Amino acid sequence: MPFRDIIGHRQLVGLLARSVRRESLPPSLIFAGPAGIGKRLTALATAQALNCTAPVITKDDSSASASSGETIDACGKCKACKRIARGVHPDVLFVEPGDTGSIKIEQVRDIVDRAAYRPFEGRRRAVIIDQADALVPAAQNALLKTLEEPPPSSVFMLITSRPDMLLPTVLSRCPRLQFRALGPHDIAAALVKRGHSEADARAVAATAEGSLGRALETSAGDLVEARDVAQHVLAQAAASVGNPRKRIESAQDLVPKPGARGADDRRQLASRLRAMASLLRDIELLSTRADVRALANPDVQPALERLTKAYEGERGIRAFTAVDRALGALVGNAGVKIVADWLVLQL
Ligand SMILES: [Zn+2]
Repeated sequence: MPFRDIIGHRQLVGLLARSVRRESLPPSLIFAGPAGIGKRLTALATAQALNCTAPVITKDDSSASASSGETIDACGKCKACKRIARGVHPDVLFVEPGDTGSIKIEQVRDIVDRAAYRPFEGRRRAVIIDQADALVPAAQNALLKTLEEPPPSSVFMLITSRPDMLLPTVLSRCPRLQFRALGPHDIAAALVKRGHSEADARAVAATAEGSLGRALETSAGDLVEARDVAQHVLAQAAASVGNPRKRIESAQDLVPKPGARGADDRRQLASRLRAMASLLRDIELLSTRADVRALANPDVQPALERLTKAYEGERGIRAFTAVDRALGALVGNAGVKIVADWLVLQL
């Protein structure tokens, strides 16, 4: 995937594209930022731009100085680009955690050895270490020597959502590119590109919390189901003020049907809660008479308007906070049923 197909991150991508063009890319870099937002794809695009045999060079008008005003991008079609995309280019090396969840010292020694040679085919060898925070300390130390005296023809890219897990010595050797969560607009545009309808894309993007990876996991069908359940539970809670028993009953609707595997249970409840948060945000928008074009779920606007009376103001805010806390509890491994029961009593 060339730079031009990366969703969002325009500034960072522009910086990389100019540095590759000027041959001033640092020998080691940290790509830091939340999971699922395109760090690995950007590293791949960088490897392609470094080794493409038919690169596209563009004048970059946004740049102030003329000398730095060119960017380079991979063609995406040549043999080198295709092999890099498939992970089989001899000069683009990947390291990632094995079955144990960590990156061992042997894996690092292996790539350090290979990085010492000149590239076989390409111009510059790229070493991409995914989930670099999984490097055991001994492996980080083994890498350190290479980061201190990098082989001239290699670039090391360390990808991580938890840079604080890396040794200070490693951090200090690698300039950091900080990736930010994507805006709902970027995510929706990416989904539309992948064939989703505009309405589905907006609804999915609203629950993705800045992660395109998560948005892609949530198929539109799942989302519609999650939203139906969330809407039903909100309506039930609105109709049963002062009737805790009835509310606990509606918690059963929130919990996925038995038979689903444990991890799946959790994932499903989480997606229902994210849908609920998105609905509550829209209800807040409607109750403050804000612009309806900002709605994340415009296709269910009439149903949301019916809920506005119950959830406007204080109660809506309380409900939203409760959903947020429930999501936090799920991440913290609280039981699915306990979380659902607690939540419905707060709505
Ligand atoms: Zn190419």
